[in-house]
Amino acid sequence: MVNHAIERVGYKMSLSSSIKALLVCPLCKGVLDIREESQEIWCRADGLAYPIRDDIPVMLADEARTLTTDERTEH
Ligand SMILES: [Zn+2]
Repeated sequence: MVNHAIERVGYKMSLSSSIKALLVCPLCKGVLDIREESQEIWCRADGLAYPIRDDIPVMLADEARTLTTDERTEH
């Protein structure tokens, strides 16, 4: 049986340092800003903050929150 449960845009994987270098946004394939202090991964291009749950980046647009204007323009 094929598991169809993860047929959504995105992916989940564990957060090792080698994985961090490879992480890209599932929507725009852009560079991400890993915010370990807030356990989020930001894509400023899309204005989305993907959650990190138990060290696992949840790279699903469905699960992401929208960045505020301040967050999108923060450096
Ligand atoms: Zn993006």
